[in-house]
Amino acid sequence: MTTTVIVMTTSASLPTDPEDAIRTGGTRDGGTVTDRLVEANERYAAEFTDPGMDARPVLGVAVVACMDARLDLHDALGLELGDCHTIRNAGGVVTDDVIRSLTISQRALGTRSVVLIHHTGCGLESLTEEFRQDLENEVGQRPTWAVESFRDVDQDVRQSMQRVRTSPFLLHTDDVRGFVFDVKTGLLREIDPA
Ligand SMILES: [Zn+2]
Repeated sequence: MTTTVIVMTTSASLPTDPEDAIRTGGTRDGGTVTDRLVEANERYAAEFTDPGMDARPVLGVAVVACMDARLDLHDALGLELGDCHTIRNAGGVVTDDVIRSLTISQRALGTRSVVLIHHTGCGLESLTEEFRQDLENEVGQRPTWAVESFRDVDQDVRQSMQRVRTSPFLLHTDDVRGFVFDVKTGLLREIDPA
């Protein structure tokens, strides 16, 4: 493997002290966290070979999950590149925009199965809809979206399954299953839709 070193000069004073770097989201070398990602991509691309796939997911499945950093969907579900669509947001909530993505996934790209994954210790459990009111008080404008906070993760998964099953836009709603991922054990627990 060859490593290409790109020397970048910047006029801005980037943090060099490691503590400063952590506070500002930078790295030990003085670059920002995004610089670090771009460098990692150069190494990735150097080893990358075109898999020659089209855009249709090999397993015909779309996974809707929380954006939580502890949930590695591909590792946790044994998925390979090209296998599935992954649709993620705060909570793994089935919003109108998730329905938009699922509709395109099924109607344009051939998926038939939907897997919903919420998890233990979700940040949305510590929020309430007052979050919207606080935002309005702060910025003078009420968000159009709901926070979708919840107290009972099982019930939230059931509601999400229901939203998918009852969507008029989807072609396939017979294989919709919901789970809670335990961030401490890595295990999925299936939620009964009833
Ligand atoms: Zn979460």
